Amino acid sequence: MFNDFNLSEETLKAIREKGFEKPTPIQEKAIPLLLEGKDLVGQAQTGTGKTAAFGIPVVERVNPKEGTIQALILVPTRELAIQVAKEIKDLGKYRRVKVLAVYGGKPIFGQIDLLKRIRPQVVVGTPGRVKDLIERGILDLSKVKIFVLDEADRMLDMGFIEDIEFIFSQTPEEKQTLLFSATLPPEIRDVIRRFLKEDHAEVRIEPEKPTVEKIRQKIYRVGDRKLFETFLAKLEETPFRKGIVFTQTKREADWLADRLKEAGFNAEAIHGDYSQNRREWVLRNFRKGNIDLLVATDVAARGLDIKGLDAVFNYRLPQDAESYIHRIGRTGRAGKEGLALSFSSDAEDDRLQRVKKLAGDTFEFVNLSDRPLERGKKNSKPRRGFGNRKFPKRGFGRKRDNFNSFGSRFKGENPFGD
Ligand code: ADP
Ligand code: MG
Repeated sequence: MFNDFNLSEETLKAIREKGFEKPTPIQEKAIPLLLEGKDLVGQAQTGTGKTAAFGIPVVERVNPKEGTIQALILVPTRELAIQVAKEIKDLGKYRRVKVLAVYGGKPIFGQIDLLKRIRPQVVVGTPGRVKDLIERGILDLSKVKIFVLDEADRMLDMGFIEDIEFIFSQTPEEKQTLLFSATLPPEIRDVIRRFLKEDHAEVRIEPEKPTVEKIRQKIYRVGDRKLFETFLAKLEETPFRKGIVFTQTKREADWLADRLKEAGFNAEAIHGDYSQNRREWVLRNFRKGNIDLLVATDVAARGLDIKGLDAVFNYRLPQDAESYIHRIGRTGRAGKEGLALSFSSDAEDDRLQRVKKLAGDTFEFVNLSDRPLERGKKNSKPRRGFGNRKFPKRGFGRKRDNFNSFGSRFKGENPFGD
Protein backbone atom coordinates (compact mmCIF):
# COMPACT_ATOMS: atom_id res chain seq x y z
CA MET A 1 0.00 0.00 0.00
CA PHE A 2 1.17 3.52 -0.70
CA ASN A 3 0.14 4.34 2.87
CA ASP A 4 2.97 2.16 4.17
CA PHE A 5 5.64 4.39 2.67
CA ASN A 6 5.34 7.26 5.09
CA LEU A 7 4.53 9.74 2.37
CA SER A 8 3.10 13.19 2.90
CA GLU A 9 -0.67 13.57 2.84
CA GLU A 10 -0.32 15.78 -0.25
CA THR A 11 1.52 13.12 -2.22
CA LEU A 12 -0.89 10.39 -1.13
CA LYS A 13 -3.75 12.51 -2.33
CA ALA A 14 -2.06 13.06 -5.69
CA ILE A 15 -1.42 9.32 -6.04
CA ARG A 16 -5.07 8.57 -5.30
CA GLU A 17 -6.11 11.11 -7.87
CA LYS A 18 -4.00 9.39 -10.49
CA GLY A 19 -5.99 6.26 -9.75
CA PHE A 20 -3.01 4.24 -8.49
CA GLU A 21 -4.43 1.84 -5.94
CA LYS A 22 -1.34 -0.08 -5.00
CA PRO A 23 2.34 0.18 -5.86
CA THR A 24 3.70 -1.85 -8.75
CA PRO A 25 6.49 -4.31 -7.82
CA ILE A 26 9.28 -1.91 -8.78
CA GLN A 27 7.61 0.90 -6.82
CA GLU A 28 7.12 -1.38 -3.82
CA LYS A 29 10.85 -2.10 -3.67
CA ALA A 30 12.38 1.14 -4.91
CA ILE A 31 10.37 3.82 -3.13
CA PRO A 32 11.49 3.01 0.47
CA LEU A 33 15.15 2.83 -0.60
CA LEU A 34 14.89 6.10 -2.48
CA LEU A 35 13.23 7.85 0.41
CA GLU A 36 16.23 6.81 2.51
CA GLY A 37 18.48 8.56 0.04
CA LYS A 38 20.11 5.48 -1.49
CA ASP A 39 21.63 5.38 -4.95
CA LEU A 40 19.71 2.83 -6.94
CA VAL A 41 19.59 0.79 -10.10
CA GLY A 42 16.04 -0.13 -11.05
CA GLN A 43 15.34 -2.65 -13.74
CA ALA A 44 11.88 -3.67 -14.87
CA GLN A 45 10.10 -4.10 -18.17
CA THR A 46 8.45 -1.14 -19.85
CA GLY A 47 5.05 -0.24 -18.56
CA THR A 48 5.75 -1.30 -14.99
CA GLY A 49 5.58 2.16 -13.42
CA LYS A 50 9.25 3.15 -13.26
CA THR A 51 8.42 6.84 -13.62
CA ALA A 52 6.44 7.00 -10.39
CA ALA A 53 9.02 4.74 -8.72
CA PHE A 54 11.43 7.66 -8.83
CA GLY A 55 8.82 10.41 -9.30
CA ILE A 56 7.20 9.87 -5.91
CA PRO A 57 10.50 10.08 -3.95
CA VAL A 58 11.52 13.07 -6.07
CA VAL A 59 8.43 15.10 -5.18
CA GLU A 60 8.80 14.09 -1.55
CA ARG A 61 12.46 14.99 -1.31
CA VAL A 62 12.64 18.34 -3.05
CA ASN A 63 11.87 21.49 -1.14
CA PRO A 64 9.14 23.41 -2.98
CA LYS A 65 9.94 26.57 -1.06
CA GLU A 66 13.29 26.93 -2.76
CA GLY A 67 13.41 28.01 -6.39
CA THR A 68 16.48 25.96 -7.23
CA ILE A 69 16.86 22.89 -9.41
CA GLN A 70 17.03 20.00 -6.95
CA ALA A 71 16.25 17.07 -9.20
CA LEU A 72 17.44 16.52 -12.75
CA ILE A 73 15.98 13.72 -14.81
CA LEU A 74 17.51 12.79 -18.13
CA VAL A 75 15.40 10.91 -20.67
CA PRO A 76 16.19 9.87 -24.25
CA THR A 77 13.41 11.60 -26.23
CA ARG A 78 11.24 14.71 -26.31
CA GLU A 79 8.07 12.72 -25.95
CA LEU A 80 9.40 11.10 -22.83
CA ALA A 81 10.54 14.42 -21.42
CA ILE A 82 7.00 15.72 -21.79
CA GLN A 83 5.41 12.55 -20.46
CA VAL A 84 7.70 12.15 -17.46
CA ALA A 85 7.42 15.84 -16.57
CA LYS A 86 3.63 15.55 -16.69
CA GLU A 87 3.59 12.50 -14.40
CA ILE A 88 5.87 14.17 -11.85
CA LYS A 89 3.85 17.37 -12.05
CA ASP A 90 0.71 15.36 -11.27
CA LEU A 91 2.40 13.61 -8.35
CA GLY A 92 3.79 16.83 -6.92
CA LYS A 93 0.78 18.98 -7.49
CA TYR A 94 -0.42 19.29 -3.89
CA ARG A 95 3.10 19.80 -2.65
CA ARG A 96 3.36 22.58 -5.20
CA VAL A 97 6.45 21.13 -6.80
CA LYS A 98 7.30 22.89 -10.05
CA VAL A 99 8.42 20.74 -12.94
CA LEU A 100 9.72 21.78 -16.34
CA ALA A 101 10.54 19.76 -19.44
CA VAL A 102 13.41 20.93 -21.64
CA TYR A 103 14.06 19.27 -24.96
CA GLY A 104 15.30 19.89 -28.45
CA GLY A 105 13.25 20.65 -31.53
CA LYS A 106 11.72 23.70 -29.95
CA PRO A 107 13.23 27.18 -29.76
CA ILE A 108 15.56 27.30 -26.80
CA PHE A 109 14.52 30.84 -25.90
CA GLY A 110 11.04 29.89 -24.83
CA GLN A 111 12.50 27.28 -22.49
CA ILE A 112 15.06 29.74 -21.12
CA ASP A 113 12.25 32.13 -20.42
CA LEU A 114 10.21 29.46 -18.64
CA LEU A 115 13.18 28.35 -16.55
CA LYS A 116 13.65 31.89 -15.31
CA ARG A 117 9.99 32.52 -14.65
CA ILE A 118 8.93 29.18 -13.18
CA ARG A 119 12.10 28.46 -11.20
CA PRO A 120 11.35 24.70 -11.14
CA GLN A 121 12.64 22.29 -8.53
CA VAL A 122 12.53 19.45 -11.04
CA VAL A 123 13.86 19.55 -14.59
CA VAL A 124 13.21 16.71 -17.01
CA GLY A 125 15.25 16.93 -20.17
CA THR A 126 16.97 15.33 -23.10
CA PRO A 127 20.77 15.27 -22.76
CA GLY A 128 21.47 17.48 -25.80
CA ARG A 129 19.22 20.32 -24.71
CA VAL A 130 20.28 20.12 -21.08
CA LYS A 131 23.92 20.38 -22.10
CA ASP A 132 23.13 23.32 -24.35
CA LEU A 133 21.39 25.14 -21.51
CA ILE A 134 24.32 24.50 -19.17
CA GLU A 135 26.77 25.85 -21.74
CA ARG A 136 24.70 28.99 -22.09
CA GLY A 137 24.95 29.46 -18.37
CA ILE A 138 21.21 29.13 -17.93
CA LEU A 139 20.91 25.85 -16.06
CA ASP A 140 22.43 25.96 -12.61
CA LEU A 141 22.89 22.40 -11.37
CA SER A 142 24.87 23.25 -8.25
CA LYS A 143 21.88 22.51 -6.00
CA VAL A 144 20.97 19.15 -7.53
CA LYS A 145 20.27 16.50 -4.86
CA ILE A 146 18.82 13.82 -7.14
CA PHE A 147 20.12 12.86 -10.53
CA VAL A 148 18.07 10.37 -12.54
CA LEU A 149 18.98 8.52 -15.71
CA ASP A 150 15.70 7.20 -17.03
CA GLU A 151 15.52 4.65 -19.85
CA ALA A 152 19.29 4.39 -19.56
CA ASP A 153 19.58 1.62 -22.12
CA ARG A 154 17.93 3.75 -24.76
CA MET A 155 20.02 6.77 -23.92
CA LEU A 156 23.17 4.75 -24.48
CA ASP A 157 21.83 3.34 -27.74
CA MET A 158 21.26 6.88 -28.87
CA GLY A 159 24.86 7.83 -28.19
CA PHE A 160 24.24 10.26 -25.34
CA ILE A 161 26.99 9.01 -23.08
CA GLU A 162 29.34 11.98 -23.57
CA ASP A 163 26.59 14.52 -22.97
CA ILE A 164 25.58 12.61 -19.87
CA GLU A 165 29.13 12.62 -18.54
CA PHE A 166 29.38 16.35 -19.08
CA ILE A 167 26.06 16.98 -17.34
CA PHE A 168 26.99 14.68 -14.47
CA SER A 169 30.22 16.65 -13.98
CA GLN A 170 28.16 19.80 -13.47
CA THR A 171 26.27 18.38 -10.50
CA PRO A 172 27.52 18.35 -6.90
CA GLU A 173 29.64 15.44 -5.78
CA GLU A 174 27.27 14.65 -2.93
CA LYS A 175 23.93 13.63 -4.40
CA GLN A 176 21.64 10.68 -4.96
CA THR A 177 22.00 9.05 -8.36
CA LEU A 178 19.41 6.73 -9.84
CA LEU A 179 19.44 4.70 -13.00
CA PHE A 180 16.33 3.12 -14.45
CA SER A 181 16.36 0.79 -17.39
CA ALA A 182 14.39 -2.01 -18.97
CA THR A 183 17.61 -3.96 -19.56
CA LEU A 184 21.09 -3.98 -18.05
CA PRO A 185 23.58 -4.73 -20.83
CA PRO A 186 27.35 -4.54 -20.07
CA GLU A 187 27.63 -0.90 -21.20
CA ILE A 188 25.10 0.04 -18.56
CA ARG A 189 27.19 -1.79 -16.00
CA ASP A 190 30.04 0.57 -16.92
CA VAL A 191 27.81 3.59 -16.43
CA ILE A 192 26.66 2.26 -13.07
CA ARG A 193 30.28 1.83 -11.94
CA ARG A 194 31.15 5.36 -12.99
CA PHE A 195 28.13 7.26 -11.71
CA LEU A 196 26.64 5.40 -8.78
CA LYS A 197 28.02 4.90 -5.30
CA GLU A 198 29.57 1.54 -4.72
CA ASP A 199 27.01 0.63 -2.08
CA HIS A 200 24.05 1.46 -4.29
CA ALA A 201 20.94 -0.70 -4.13
CA GLU A 202 19.68 -2.76 -7.04
CA VAL A 203 16.07 -3.62 -7.62
CA ARG A 204 15.33 -5.98 -10.43
CA ILE A 205 11.87 -7.19 -11.23
CA GLU A 206 11.78 -10.32 -13.32
CA PRO A 207 9.14 -10.32 -16.04
CA GLU A 208 6.06 -12.32 -15.18
CA LYS A 209 6.25 -15.92 -16.18
CA PRO A 210 5.01 -16.53 -19.67
CA THR A 211 1.43 -17.69 -19.41
CA VAL A 212 2.27 -21.12 -20.74
CA GLU A 213 4.09 -21.90 -17.56
CA LYS A 214 0.96 -21.18 -15.59
CA ILE A 215 -0.79 -23.94 -17.49
CA ARG A 216 -0.80 -27.38 -16.00
CA GLN A 217 0.01 -29.61 -18.94
CA LYS A 218 -0.39 -33.32 -19.23
CA ILE A 219 0.17 -35.46 -22.30
CA TYR A 220 -1.10 -39.02 -22.55
CA ARG A 221 0.40 -41.35 -25.11
CA VAL A 222 -2.37 -43.69 -26.10
CA GLY A 223 -2.83 -46.69 -28.35
CA ASP A 224 -4.28 -45.40 -31.60
CA ARG A 225 -7.48 -47.40 -31.26
CA LYS A 226 -8.02 -46.33 -27.71
CA LEU A 227 -7.87 -42.61 -28.40
CA PHE A 228 -11.56 -41.83 -28.00
CA GLU A 229 -12.09 -44.19 -25.10
CA THR A 230 -9.19 -42.70 -23.13
CA PHE A 231 -10.12 -39.16 -24.04
CA LEU A 232 -13.68 -39.65 -22.82
CA ALA A 233 -12.57 -41.26 -19.59
CA LYS A 234 -10.17 -38.41 -18.79
CA LEU A 235 -12.70 -35.79 -19.79
CA GLU A 236 -15.22 -37.30 -17.39
CA GLU A 237 -12.84 -37.21 -14.47
CA THR A 238 -11.54 -33.70 -15.17
CA PRO A 239 -13.32 -30.82 -13.48
CA PHE A 240 -13.59 -27.81 -15.79
CA ARG A 241 -16.13 -25.16 -16.62
CA LYS A 242 -15.39 -24.21 -20.17
CA GLY A 243 -13.08 -26.01 -22.55
CA ILE A 244 -11.95 -26.25 -26.15
CA VAL A 245 -11.19 -29.57 -27.81
CA PHE A 246 -8.86 -29.33 -30.77
CA THR A 247 -9.15 -31.81 -33.59
CA GLN A 248 -7.11 -32.43 -36.66
CA THR A 249 -9.82 -32.10 -39.30
CA LYS A 250 -13.33 -30.69 -39.73
CA ARG A 251 -14.70 -34.19 -40.07
CA GLU A 252 -13.05 -35.22 -36.88
CA ALA A 253 -14.54 -32.18 -35.14
CA ASP A 254 -18.07 -33.12 -36.27
CA TRP A 255 -17.57 -36.75 -35.38
CA LEU A 256 -16.15 -35.99 -31.97
CA ALA A 257 -18.83 -33.40 -31.12
CA ASP A 258 -21.50 -36.00 -31.91
CA ARG A 259 -19.80 -38.65 -29.76
CA LEU A 260 -19.46 -36.17 -26.89
CA LYS A 261 -23.12 -35.21 -27.13
CA GLU A 262 -24.05 -38.89 -27.01
CA ALA A 263 -21.93 -39.16 -23.89
CA GLY A 264 -23.93 -36.36 -22.31
CA PHE A 265 -21.60 -33.42 -22.81
CA ASN A 266 -22.80 -30.03 -23.80
CA ALA A 267 -20.56 -29.86 -26.85
CA GLU A 268 -20.72 -28.17 -30.26
CA ALA A 269 -18.38 -28.26 -33.22
CA ILE A 270 -17.15 -25.16 -34.97
CA HIS A 271 -15.24 -25.01 -38.22
CA GLY A 272 -15.01 -23.34 -41.56
CA ASP A 273 -17.70 -25.40 -43.29
CA TYR A 274 -20.45 -23.95 -41.15
CA SER A 275 -22.28 -20.79 -42.14
CA GLN A 276 -21.23 -17.53 -40.56
CA ASN A 277 -24.56 -17.48 -38.71
CA ARG A 278 -24.08 -20.85 -37.19
CA ARG A 279 -20.51 -20.07 -36.18
CA GLU A 280 -21.60 -16.89 -34.47
CA TRP A 281 -24.44 -18.70 -32.73
CA VAL A 282 -22.06 -21.34 -31.40
CA LEU A 283 -19.52 -18.80 -30.22
CA ARG A 284 -22.14 -16.61 -28.57
CA ASN A 285 -23.50 -19.54 -26.62
CA PHE A 286 -20.04 -20.74 -25.74
CA ARG A 287 -19.15 -17.32 -24.36
CA LYS A 288 -22.40 -17.19 -22.41
CA GLY A 289 -21.73 -20.59 -20.91
CA ASN A 290 -24.60 -22.42 -22.61
CA ILE A 291 -22.07 -24.64 -24.31
CA ASP A 292 -19.35 -26.25 -22.19
CA LEU A 293 -17.13 -27.73 -24.85
CA LEU A 294 -16.20 -26.25 -28.17
CA VAL A 295 -14.83 -28.80 -30.61
CA ALA A 296 -12.71 -26.93 -33.10
CA THR A 297 -10.03 -27.05 -35.71
CA ASP A 298 -7.02 -24.75 -35.41
CA VAL A 299 -8.32 -22.40 -38.07
CA ALA A 300 -11.67 -21.92 -36.38
CA ALA A 301 -10.08 -21.18 -33.04
CA ARG A 302 -7.45 -18.73 -34.26
CA GLY A 303 -7.49 -15.45 -32.41
CA LEU A 304 -10.31 -16.45 -30.10
CA ASP A 305 -10.04 -14.89 -26.68
CA ILE A 306 -12.65 -16.56 -24.55
CA LYS A 307 -13.13 -15.40 -20.99
CA GLY A 308 -13.14 -18.10 -18.36
CA LEU A 309 -11.68 -20.81 -20.56
CA ASP A 310 -10.11 -23.10 -18.01
CA ALA A 311 -9.23 -26.13 -20.08
CA VAL A 312 -7.79 -26.98 -23.48
CA PHE A 313 -7.90 -30.52 -24.79
CA ASN A 314 -5.88 -31.79 -27.69
CA TYR A 315 -7.68 -34.80 -29.04
CA ARG A 316 -4.50 -35.31 -30.99
CA LEU A 317 -1.29 -33.37 -30.86
CA PRO A 318 -0.97 -30.96 -33.78
CA GLN A 319 1.46 -31.51 -36.65
CA ASP A 320 3.69 -28.65 -35.63
CA ALA A 321 4.79 -27.91 -32.12
CA GLU A 322 4.11 -24.15 -32.36
CA SER A 323 0.42 -24.90 -32.74
CA TYR A 324 0.59 -26.79 -29.50
CA ILE A 325 1.83 -23.67 -27.72
CA HIS A 326 -0.80 -21.49 -29.39
CA ARG A 327 -3.57 -23.90 -28.57
CA ILE A 328 -2.79 -24.29 -24.92
CA GLY A 329 -2.13 -20.56 -24.60
CA ARG A 330 -5.87 -19.98 -24.94
CA THR A 331 -6.25 -20.89 -21.33
CA GLY A 332 -4.26 -19.63 -18.37
CA ARG A 333 -4.78 -16.02 -19.36
CA ALA A 334 -4.56 -12.95 -17.16
CA GLY A 335 -2.76 -14.68 -14.33
CA LYS A 336 -5.31 -17.47 -14.02
CA GLU A 337 -4.30 -21.08 -13.94
CA GLY A 338 -5.28 -23.26 -16.83
CA LEU A 339 -5.26 -26.91 -17.66
CA ALA A 340 -4.13 -28.52 -20.91
CA LEU A 341 -4.73 -32.24 -21.48
CA SER A 342 -3.39 -33.75 -24.65
CA PHE A 343 -3.68 -37.17 -26.21
CA SER A 344 -1.15 -38.50 -28.59
CA SER A 345 -1.73 -41.55 -30.68
CA ASP A 346 1.15 -44.01 -30.56
CA ALA A 347 0.96 -44.03 -34.34
CA GLU A 348 2.03 -40.39 -34.33
CA ASP A 349 5.06 -40.37 -32.08
CA ASP A 350 6.83 -37.87 -34.31
CA ARG A 351 4.38 -35.20 -33.14
CA LEU A 352 5.15 -36.02 -29.58
CA GLN A 353 8.87 -35.69 -30.25
CA ARG A 354 8.41 -32.26 -31.78
CA VAL A 355 6.28 -30.98 -28.93
CA LYS A 356 8.78 -32.37 -26.48
CA LYS A 357 11.57 -30.47 -28.21
CA LEU A 358 9.74 -27.18 -28.03
CA ALA A 359 7.93 -27.45 -24.73
CA GLY A 360 10.82 -29.01 -22.83
CA ASP A 361 9.90 -30.36 -19.46
CA THR A 362 6.91 -28.13 -18.86
CA PHE A 363 4.44 -30.99 -19.01
CA GLU A 364 3.75 -34.22 -17.26
CA PHE A 365 3.92 -37.27 -19.48
CA VAL A 366 1.87 -40.41 -19.06
CA ASN A 367 2.51 -43.33 -21.35
CA LEU A 368 -0.56 -45.56 -21.60
CA SER A 369 0.48 -47.36 -24.74
CA ASP A 370 2.25 -50.69 -24.72
CA ARG A 371 4.00 -49.99 -27.97
CA PRO A 372 7.60 -49.00 -27.35
CA LEU A 373 8.45 -45.41 -27.96
CA GLU A 374 11.62 -45.03 -29.92
CA ARG A 375 13.51 -41.84 -29.72
CA GLY A 376 13.91 -39.94 -33.00
CA LYS A 377 13.57 -43.19 -34.90
CA LYS A 378 13.17 -41.59 -38.28
CA ASN A 379 16.05 -39.19 -38.41
CA SER A 380 18.84 -40.40 -36.26
CA LYS A 381 21.27 -43.06 -37.31
CA PRO A 382 22.24 -45.42 -34.54
CA ARG A 383 25.58 -44.48 -33.05
CA ARG A 384 28.30 -47.03 -33.20
CA GLY A 385 29.68 -48.70 -30.15
CA PHE A 386 28.80 -47.24 -26.83
CA GLY A 387 25.97 -44.99 -28.01
CA ASN A 388 23.06 -47.29 -27.65
CA ARG A 389 24.08 -48.55 -24.32
CA LYS A 390 24.36 -45.13 -22.81
CA PHE A 391 21.15 -43.84 -24.27
CA PRO A 392 18.45 -46.41 -23.88
CA LYS A 393 16.00 -46.73 -26.70
CA ARG A 394 13.02 -47.14 -24.57
CA GLY A 395 11.46 -44.66 -22.20
CA PHE A 396 12.15 -41.02 -21.75
CA GLY A 397 15.03 -39.06 -20.58
CA ARG A 398 18.68 -39.62 -21.16
CA LYS A 399 19.42 -38.47 -17.70
CA ARG A 400 18.08 -39.89 -14.55
CA ASP A 401 16.74 -36.59 -13.30
CA ASN A 402 14.75 -36.07 -16.45
CA PHE A 403 12.94 -39.28 -16.02
CA ASN A 404 9.22 -39.14 -16.45
CA SER A 405 9.40 -35.71 -17.97
CA PHE A 406 11.01 -34.89 -21.23
CA GLY A 407 14.69 -34.20 -21.21
CA SER A 408 15.23 -31.26 -23.44
CA ARG A 409 17.99 -29.18 -24.86
CA PHE A 410 15.83 -26.21 -23.83
CA LYS A 411 16.13 -27.20 -20.23
CA GLY A 412 16.73 -24.20 -18.06
CA GLU A 413 15.77 -21.74 -20.76
CA ASN A 414 12.39 -20.41 -21.57
CA PRO A 415 11.44 -22.36 -24.67
CA PHE A 416 8.54 -20.08 -25.46
CA GLY A 417 10.43 -16.85 -25.90
CA ASP A 418 8.65 -13.77 -24.75
P1 ADP B 1 7.76 2.44 -17.37
O1 ADP B 1 8.54 3.69 -17.21
O2 ADP B 1 8.14 1.37 -16.42
O3 ADP B 1 7.73 1.95 -18.79
P2 ADP B 1 5.51 4.12 -16.73
O4 ADP B 1 6.11 4.77 -15.56
O5 ADP B 1 5.46 4.89 -18.00
O6 ADP B 1 6.24 2.72 -17.01
O7 ADP B 1 4.06 3.62 -16.29
C1 ADP B 1 3.20 2.99 -17.19
C2 ADP B 1 1.76 3.36 -16.86
O8 ADP B 1 1.37 2.82 -15.61
C3 ADP B 1 1.54 4.85 -16.76
O9 ADP B 1 0.33 5.17 -17.40
C4 ADP B 1 1.44 5.10 -15.27
O10 ADP B 1 0.64 6.24 -14.99
C5 ADP B 1 0.78 3.83 -14.78
N1 ADP B 1 1.10 3.49 -13.39
C6 ADP B 1 2.25 3.72 -12.73
N2 ADP B 1 2.19 3.27 -11.46
C7 ADP B 1 0.96 2.76 -11.28
C8 ADP B 1 0.28 2.16 -10.17
N3 ADP B 1 0.87 1.99 -8.99
N4 ADP B 1 -0.99 1.74 -10.35
C9 ADP B 1 -1.59 1.92 -11.55
N5 ADP B 1 -1.02 2.48 -12.63
C10 ADP B 1 0.25 2.90 -12.52
MG1 MG C 1 9.86 4.75 -18.32
